[in-house]
Amino acid sequence: MQKGKINVQTENIFPIIKKFLYSDHEIFLRELISNAVDATSKMRVISQTGDFSGELGNTSIEVILDKKKRTLKVIDKGIGMTTEEVDKFINQIAFSSAEEFIEKYKSQNEASPLIGHFGLGFYSSFMVSDKVEILTKTYKKGPGTKGVKWVCDGSPDYTIDEYDKKDRGTEITLHITKDSEEFLEENRVLELLKKYCKFLPVEIIFGTEKTYEPTGEKDKDGHDKTKEVEKPRIINNTKPLWTQKPVDLKDEDYKNFYRELYPMNFEEPLFNIHLNVDYPFTLTGILYFPKVKRNFEVQRDKIQLYCNQVFVTDSVEGIVPDFLTLMHGVIDSPDIPLNVSRSYLQSDPNVKKISSHITKKVADKLEELFKNSRPDFEAKWDDIRIFIEYGMISDEKFYERAEKFCLFKNTAGKYFTFEEYKEHVKVLQTDKEKQLVYLYTTNTEEQHSFINAATERGYDVLVMDNVLDSHFINQLERKFEKCRFSRVDAETIDKLIQKDDALPSKITEEQKNQLKPIIENQVNKEKFQVTFESLSESEQPMMITQPEFMRRMRDMSAVGGNSYFGSLPEQYSLVINCNHPLIGRLLEEKDEAKQSKLAKQLTDLALLSQNLLKGEELTNFIKRSVDLID
Ligand code: ADP
Repeated sequence: MQKGKINVQTENIFPIIKKFLYSDHEIFLRELISNAVDATSKMRVISQTGDFSGELGNTSIEVILDKKKRTLKVIDKGIGMTTEEVDKFINQIAFSSAEEFIEKYKSQNEASPLIGHFGLGFYSSFMVSDKVEILTKTYKKGPGTKGVKWVCDGSPDYTIDEYDKKDRGTEITLHITKDSEEFLEENRVLELLKKYCKFLPVEIIFGTEKTYEPTGEKDKDGHDKTKEVEKPRIINNTKPLWTQKPVDLKDEDYKNFYRELYPMNFEEPLFNIHLNVDYPFTLTGILYFPKVKRNFEVQRDKIQLYCNQVFVTDSVEGIVPDFLTLMHGVIDSPDIPLNVSRSYLQSDPNVKKISSHITKKVADKLEELFKNSRPDFEAKWDDIRIFIEYGMISDEKFYERAEKFCLFKNTAGKYFTFEEYKEHVKVLQTDKEKQLVYLYTTNTEEQHSFINAATERGYDVLVMDNVLDSHFINQLERKFEKCRFSRVDAETIDKLIQKDDALPSKITEEQKNQLKPIIENQVNKEKFQVTFESLSESEQPMMITQPEFMRRMRDMSAVGGNSYFGSLPEQYSLVINCNHPLIGRLLEEKDEAKQSKLAKQLTDLALLSQNLLKGEELTNFIKRSVDLID
């Protein structure tokens, strides 16, 4: 037997390893299995190239839990190690790289977590074990290749011994500590295996599972008889879809894979993008466009990041542009540095390239869909537009690409590109200052009467009803030349387009001054500003409009969380139609009580049509209306 001391510079590295990022203790299993996969993959290559004359045999990796003995084993049939290799790889290299990693980690800011923690390797097993044993036998022939046993109890002392091992490969036994007992629970281990190993390229077996198989016989009703059989439980799909060639795959395969990735998500994805890059970095993956819900935050951060089929994280923040985190799917790249902090990642040139490559691919795919099957693209538009708008607001490059295929939808349900829409409204909706006025609604139900007033004049109204639209509109106003966007109820429609000169007013200035206080008495003066306009007789007697600028700022702050604009008061204009016969009657009414009642009824109607009449006011209005009918 040989005894030794691991060459420790930091005397107390083990306590540090044990404490290492408490919540991430679980990564030890990923590290051990990754090593087993590497050893197995090397063995396969060696066997193929003919440097090994024996049987390759079954190369599955086994994970075995023994709750009584308090051990967890990872067994592979990979290349194994000779005594010298154990000394070199485990005692020296693995140890010093773990040490180096911990040194680096200690100097990292705690508040910025490391991305994937790769690097700690084999020694991460000491985060959860009192004692670790390695039994290993190399594939090589010759002296010193019988088998090796290495044991270390977490102090810098280890023993290394010759050991008569039957099979080629490595068996690692962890003696789990008291405070890591969770890793002796079958369900916990299963959960970890499913999380980290779901797509590893070597079969991983953990325990058994029961399934039903046909016996070949029939029962008396003619149905196939089945029997219960216990089979090794295979954790992973060794050939996940992203590792396969796109030409060999059908739409159905992508849909099935989506289900495999998100078994709890019952919606089908809209379409997918298969990423495949070799140069200047290696990256494969499949991204899906999900149906984006109104509350899109819950759908965020579903992209899973892998490194050579080993799961790393499902938070790709910093790796893909923010707007792409709305997508689902997988990205696999060995070129993303994983043992650095997220803030560092954003400045990594490789990561920047990856990020802009993905953006470009996404834009290309959308453009292709738009060009090749516009009806299909339009059918999906309502589901993808929030995503595209988000991209156009936050990413200049993406805006330039998306300009060609971004669509406007009007209240009639027709879709237009930016160019097409400009042509469509140019003639009627250019105002006196030669500005093109884009009319829009944020709610086709609530703003119905205003939409109606606009469409009756032949104007077109866009539907801009998603949460990002107020930001998006701002962006468009900056990008488009000579234009302005106005919600249909920002002012009365004629004022909005500013085409015709106003009609003559049927009431004088003096009469207006007389009316103003009567109407002001009916509403909150802080909130409603009374104004007069000479509209046609067929318009409503009173209308409530909401100035564009203030409203948009408020809407934007509701999305962006800007408290300054959030505290802006709600402001409305109460527009009196000077030419409406009821306004004339209101003026002529000599009975003050009657006059006030009529004024109240008219303002309430205006409030009602903007959905602003609530609570007690609404109840009173209904009562008053019933009385009026009587
Ligand atoms: P890394 O995997 O990053 O190289 P580790 O500390 O995990 O670092 O492992 C150090 C070395 O020990 C590996 O590079 C490999 O040579 C050897 N090793 C670890 N586990 C195994 C195994 N299961 N089979 C064969 N060799 C192994």
